[in-house]
Order: sequence, then C-alpha cells, then structure tokens
Amino acid sequence: MLHIEDLHVSYGAIHALKGVSLRVETGEIVTLIGANGAGKSTLLRAISGLLRPSRGTILYDGGKNLAGMAPHDVVKLGISHVPEGRAIFSNLTVEENLQIGAFLRKDRQGMEEDRERIFGLFPLLKERLRQSAATLSGGEQQMLAISRALMARPRLLLLDEPSLGLAPIVVQAIFKTIREINQAGTPILLVEQNAHMALMVAHRGYVIQTGEVVMEGTGKELLATERVRQFYLGEA
Ligand code: ATP
Repeated sequence: MLHIEDLHVSYGAIHALKGVSLRVETGEIVTLIGANGAGKSTLLRAISGLLRPSRGTILYDGGKNLAGMAPHDVVKLGISHVPEGRAIFSNLTVEENLQIGAFLRKDRQGMEEDRERIFGLFPLLKERLRQSAATLSGGEQQMLAISRALMARPRLLLLDEPSLGLAPIVVQAIFKTIREINQAGTPILLVEQNAHMALMVAHRGYVIQTGEVVMEGTGKELLATERVRQFYLGEA
C-alpha cells in the first residue's frame, strides 16, 4: 500500500536520504532501524508531507504520489504520523487532545467506537480525560499521542520512536499495543532505536545507515543477522 522508490531528501547541503526504496503492504508492521542521524525521522517526515523530496516517488494506495504533497492532504488520505517526542498539546486536556485527532471526522458513531477501543487499549486515559495532558507521565503521554493518531482512524500509521525514554515496563506495554493495533487491521511503519523490540514485533524490517538502506528482511531474519546483532543489538 506504500511503495517508496529512490527517495532523496536534503536539508540544504546535508543529503539526508540518498535513494531509499521500501514498501509497506496491507496488514504489515514494517520497521526501520538505524543509528542516530541515519535518516529515519526524515523518511517519515517526507511521507507525511513535512519535507519535500528532491527526487523519487512515494506511491500510496495504488498510485497516488505523496512526494511533495501538503501535510493536510496526506492526513486526508488516512495517514497518521506520531512524531518523535510525543507531540501532544500539553496545555489541553486528554479529552481535547483526542478530539483534535478526530477533527476531520463527522461519523459520531465511528468516533465513539474508536474512543471505546482506545480506552480498551489504554484504560488509564479514560480515568484522566479531564486532566491536563501536561500532568501525564512520559509513558501516558506516548499513549495519548498514539491514541490521538488512532482517533483519525488511520489507514496507515507512522510511529517515530514510540519507546524513546520510557521505562522498560512501559516499553513492553507500548509494543503490545502496537501489535494489537496492527492485528485490528492497521498497517504500521515503525521507526525505532530499540531494534530488538522492533524486530520482534515487525513482519519485515529495513536497516538504514547514513541515508541508505543497507539491509532488509523479515524481523526474524534480521534478528539472526550477525551485522544487526553486532551493531544494532549491542552484542559483541
Ligand atoms: P534520530 O533518531 O537521532 O532522530 P534519525 O535516523 O531519525 O535519527 P534524522 O533525524 O532523519 O535521523 O536525520 C538525518 C540527517 O539529517 C542527520 O544527519 C541530521 O543531522 C540531519 N537533519 C535532520 N533534521 C535536520 C534539520 N532540520 N536541519 C538540518 N539537518 C537535519
């Protein structure tokens, strides 16, 4: 459903993506792993219209090219992006953050169903609906950021480092939820530095190094690869 071909993105003189090709098919969790500065966030920003590629195509849903499209048009096509750093509105309540996620929708019944589904995934949010989002813990803010994206009922979810800075037990909960969201039918492109967890949960993965894809395979294959074990899983 998402086919990226030969994508190049630059920040001025910095050539951050140098011909990246990858795909996400219906039903998949695909992960992109790589070191700091490899270009992972840049790729997600290019898909969601926040950066304009200098070359290449981002074909979505059988042929629409997202490359260079405005972010609000990408959102309308059903792509939700949860950026790194839990970009929630901390001066608003939990409830208001969820409403913002659904701002393009008019189907009241569907929205109510999605709220219930989210409260099933993250019961804590239901208890804190009237609380200011600033009072949530880091893990709860990440849950809110994911929930806000789900309120748009996305057809494709882009997650940027959802486990960053969270306690191990919260990381486990986040990954469990990522699997559940996918099993309910949403394909996910997951950017992670926690390569082990990401490859465990993903159907397929890509390793990106200084703006280029250097390896790809199923999650299992990559977990078993010597180079991945050495460089990304911290094994000697
Ligand atoms: P991280 O996990 O640290 O965010 P990443 O793999 O997501 O790493 P990117 O943030 O995509 O990496 O960065 C890719 C390259 O582009 C890096 O060399 C980075 O320094 C550069 N870069 C990223 N954002 C900008 C920017 N706004 N202006 C200039 N250079 C940037």
